[in-house]
Amino acid sequence: MSWQDDAGRDLVRSFGDRMALFVRGEGAYLWDADDRRYLDFLAGIAVNSLGHAHPVFVQAIARQAATLAHVSNYFATPPQLELAARLKRLAGTGDSGRVYFGNSGAEANEAAFKLARLHGGADKPRILALTDAFHGRTMGTLALTGKPYMQAPFLPMTPGVEFIDSTIEALEAALDDRVAALFVEPIKGEAGVVELPEGFLQAARALTEAHGALLIIDEIQTGAGRTGEWFAFQHAGITPDAITVAKGIGGGFPIGALITFGHASDLFYPGTHGSTFGGNALGTAVSSAVLGEIEDEGLVRNAAERGQQLRESIVALDSPLVAGCRGRGLLIGVGLRHPVAKAIVAAAQEHGLIINAPNDETIRLVPALNIGDAEVDEFLQLFGASLRTVEDALVLDAAPREAGA
Ligand SMILES: *Cc1c(COP(=O)(O)O)cnc(C)c1O
Repeated sequence: MSWQDDAGRDLVRSFGDRMALFVRGEGAYLWDADDRRYLDFLAGIAVNSLGHAHPVFVQAIARQAATLAHVSNYFATPPQLELAARLKRLAGTGDSGRVYFGNSGAEANEAAFKLARLHGGADKPRILALTDAFHGRTMGTLALTGKPYMQAPFLPMTPGVEFIDSTIEALEAALDDRVAALFVEPIKGEAGVVELPEGFLQAARALTEAHGALLIIDEIQTGAGRTGEWFAFQHAGITPDAITVAKGIGGGFPIGALITFGHASDLFYPGTHGSTFGGNALGTAVSSAVLGEIEDEGLVRNAAERGQQLRESIVALDSPLVAGCRGRGLLIGVGLRHPVAKAIVAAAQEHGLIINAPNDETIRLVPALNIGDAEVDEFLQLFGASLRTVEDALVLDAAPREAGA
């Protein structure tokens, strides 16, 4: 029996076929069961901020597991308090900020959804979210996710959510005093690394403030330094009412959080929300260690610089398949001229490179934040070779048609 047979028989079919069986990782590299090495520019979908098996990550898990892993939220632990204070500082909440811990992005957004309802009450039943933004797969967060094909098999959705285009005009038309909250994904990662128009976040802040609505920013993919700031909203110089984080803050350990600012910090009261695992000592110790390493090693700046370097170098490859690069820092979308993203991902895997295609016309690159010159050089070589493999296949495909025309 092959591992493919086992996976096909035993794993839930909500995911497509698994592309490889990985047995270990180190830094920016993964190894499969045949001991083949791959350069990993997906990093578990923007999760492994420090790469694989980083000593800081490994030691934080070992040390905390040997000290105290879990006591429930009837009690506090030092790692939990340390991470809450650290997240407040990095997000810039000031003293009035508060942190709710969960175990995933969806749980962070579920908490944010409940925050919006607590704020809205009966007078403000409307919740706005952006078309094409992704906020999660649970029933609550799916209701916030503006992708009809994802919702369709699971209707009816939790009511009250309306989707608007990502334009300042759409914001102006939609905001009124009956809106409890506006959810914004500051760079739409799952939609193909799509940026918001210039001035959008500033307009969203001004309009939500004018109408007494919360501005809730989903930083689950963009946070933890990925875009070259700790959080993407910081590029816009605004202060939101809440942000949600997960993915990169754990460096591979499952953890998520809702971070509130100002008045939004007063909305939850005892009994309104909770989680058994959320914020346990083990997860918070690991996250603190990961964020500490990002801070100590200047990896937010590295993300900004390596991202710029990669975007310029990818364009300089001068591939006829590449239309251009989107995104910020190390959240990069390579826009394609043809719907061949899946073919490029498959060719890359053959060449020993792991990348991802959020749609047919985009390659997403979200490597570890600590990549250096060696990884960038190797990536460009492997990515260039992968593009050429697909270019050659396209020419072969097109040749008979041209001959017959
Ligand atoms: C990944 C992601 C989520 C969902 O996080 P999970 O941990 O998969 O539940 C929500 N929002 C955004 C922007 C994401 O990228």
